[in-house]
Amino acid sequence: MKIAILSRNKKLYSTRRLIEAAEANGHQVEVLDVLRCYMSITSHRPSIHYKGQELSGFDAVIPRIGASVTFYGTAVLRQFEMMEVSPLNESVAISRSRDKLRSLQLLARKGIGLPVTGFAHSPDDVQDMMAMIGGAPAVIKLLEGTQGIGVVLAETHKAAESVIEAFMGLKANILIQEFIKEAGGSDIRCLVVGGKVVAAMKRQGKEGEFRSNLHRGGTAEVIRLTPEERSTAVRAAKIMGLNVCGVDLLRSNHGPVVMEVNSSPGLEGIEKSTGKDVAGMIIKFIETNTNPSSTRTRGKG
Ligand code: ADP
Repeated sequence: MKIAILSRNKKLYSTRRLIEAAEANGHQVEVLDVLRCYMSITSHRPSIHYKGQELSGFDAVIPRIGASVTFYGTAVLRQFEMMEVSPLNESVAISRSRDKLRSLQLLARKGIGLPVTGFAHSPDDVQDMMAMIGGAPAVIKLLEGTQGIGVVLAETHKAAESVIEAFMGLKANILIQEFIKEAGGSDIRCLVVGGKVVAAMKRQGKEGEFRSNLHRGGTAEVIRLTPEERSTAVRAAKIMGLNVCGVDLLRSNHGPVVMEVNSSPGLEGIEKSTGKDVAGMIIKFIETNTNPSSTRTRGKG
């Protein structure tokens, strides 16, 4: 098969591993910088050009679209879909997962366990907002934050009020969440491929840190999931419509709660801590779910 990887940097661990795994399985791979793709939006013959050449002959596309380029990246992916190149994750599912509020609303509607969460733009009654989520301590998050930046633990009601007011001053959308203290500064990343959890790791924040992000000095180790955690991760992936994703869970007193579903999960932490060939499993998934003969000439006629 001929596989495109939409990635801005060939040297990133995840991109390198996907190239390696695809080549090891006899596929041809090309890494394309999504921002350098340009498109002709015509009804009879959608096309994508790259560095002066029209792209053709691709069977499958692996989107690794960074959060900062979601808008343009999903538009390019949509164009691949119009050309009937099979996407690992569909553009609509990626857009959905990038909207934290929309994701939580979807998951809630289907009965997935979530931390009690409030959402606000400029609440005129902070007291009531706090009461809604059960009072302090509370976690307050900037909706646009990633890698733990803009995630604050307010231990007291007073602190929560100040943080909410400060964020409101920035005119930012915020999420206010019940603090899952019993998670003990750790969370669980479940890597789902094709409706199965293929690897899972526990991330632990460094001493005195409630955020477990590896970028913030957290450490990762392999973990055994409970059947409930496994089924929660699989259901969350299905609800979001993602074939491949990272589902982040917290172990709460009321069972597993989902914090986030990530449509471009990094492979480095999970492969290194579990020793599993996740990139290889992703390529195998593409092989079984793409029909090369039917796509090879698509988009041409
Ligand atoms: P980001 O998407 O920026 O990584 P998260 O919402 O995943 O932000 O939060 C970062 C980390 O903070 C999580 O991995 C988790 O360890 C911790 N955390 C987030 N929300 C809560 C919560 N409600 N209760 C306890 N810990 C939390």
